[in-house]
Amino acid sequence: MSARALRLLPALLLACSGGGPTPTAPTPPPPAAAPAPAVPSDSPPVPSDSPPVPADSPPLATPAPLAAIELTFVGDIIFGRYRGDNTFDAIPGPDDHPFAEIAETMRSDLLIGNLETPLTRDLPHKSPIGAQYRFGASKEMAQHLVDGGFTALSLANNHAFDLRAQGMLDSPVILRELGLIPLGASRTEPPLFRVETIERNHWKVGILAVTARRNAPHFDGTPELPFLSTTDFDALLSPVIAAARPSHDLIIVFVHWGEEYADDPAPHQRRAAKALLDHGADLVVGHHPHVLQGIERHGRGAVAYSLGNFLFENTHDIPRLTGVLRARFTPERCLETLTFHPAYIKRIPSKHPAPATRGLGKQVRERMTTLSASLDTSFELRGEDLTLSSFPCTPATAPPPPAPTPAAP
Ligand SMILES: [Zn+2]
Repeated sequence: MSARALRLLPALLLACSGGGPTPTAPTPPPPAAAPAPAVPSDSPPVPSDSPPVPADSPPLATPAPLAAIELTFVGDIIFGRYRGDNTFDAIPGPDDHPFAEIAETMRSDLLIGNLETPLTRDLPHKSPIGAQYRFGASKEMAQHLVDGGFTALSLANNHAFDLRAQGMLDSPVILRELGLIPLGASRTEPPLFRVETIERNHWKVGILAVTARRNAPHFDGTPELPFLSTTDFDALLSPVIAAARPSHDLIIVFVHWGEEYADDPAPHQRRAAKALLDHGADLVVGHHPHVLQGIERHGRGAVAYSLGNFLFENTHDIPRLTGVLRARFTPERCLETLTFHPAYIKRIPSKHPAPATRGLGKQVRERMTTLSASLDTSFELRGEDLTLSSFPCTPATAPPPPAPTPAAP
């Protein structure tokens, strides 16, 4: 039996019905030492000493042959903000289609962005909170995400409380009503840190969406953000990745973190990201600093530290430089290419992302190339795009979760 078949079996046993995201509880993976045989379609019946299959489980199916898959990521998205006089100021006008100009560049098997604003049914004209930066959006505004081709949006970011608990509760419901998948939504039930599953083209893609930034503390009786310090990533997230690894083809960490407007990730971010890759993540994709940061290769994967703003109101020289990150995985579940499509936030007719070509493309590429070079990563130029390839195709490792620290005597 091939190593791939061995690795697929737990996925089949754990496969759940339904196409929506399924939080994966951090239960230990099945013991690797005693795998049950996979069952190709022309095999004899399962031997009687195989693990019993509950009567209501779907029958074991032949693993469908996978074709390559492309996952595409963008950074921070808002649709407007509350001004100093406390009234809401929308970015797209009533007849604008903010993602139309970049939709072709984003087209992918799976498109994921960071929704830096909560959603609510009746967007209040006056902000319910008093902070300087307060975002919010209605279901009608969120329809732009559908038009842009998004699959899933992370809600794990520092603006989750901008419409108070109502926004935390409404946001995932509204996304689902629109056919979009919420990731990292605030919740009242554990586990806070969980891998959510997106099934696409026979792939099971697991996304772990978390934030290391929040603007408001957690209040009792309200949903809680999947928030943790970056220095706790390895201890708290590596066991979650290890538990989900056997039942997923890919594990992506989508993380809101870092320092605003910093050119480079902090050393503790680099350590945390590499630990997650070492413990079985395929890719770490970050956002929050409002500017592009570099991409770093590590082992069989890579870290994109910050994708910057994507649909945002700050269009100063550097924050308007952005991009679309495309990861192509082979049927062997290995990263084949990582492509960075340069983009920028165009200011007319209203602010919106657009592909960056000519002088602007060069400016975006120069920033990405320079910042990545300081992370020992260099790209190939393909047309307007920057690419990384030749990643080693080794099995994703999922060592056991670190042992809990013994209590002090
Ligand atoms: Zn943020």
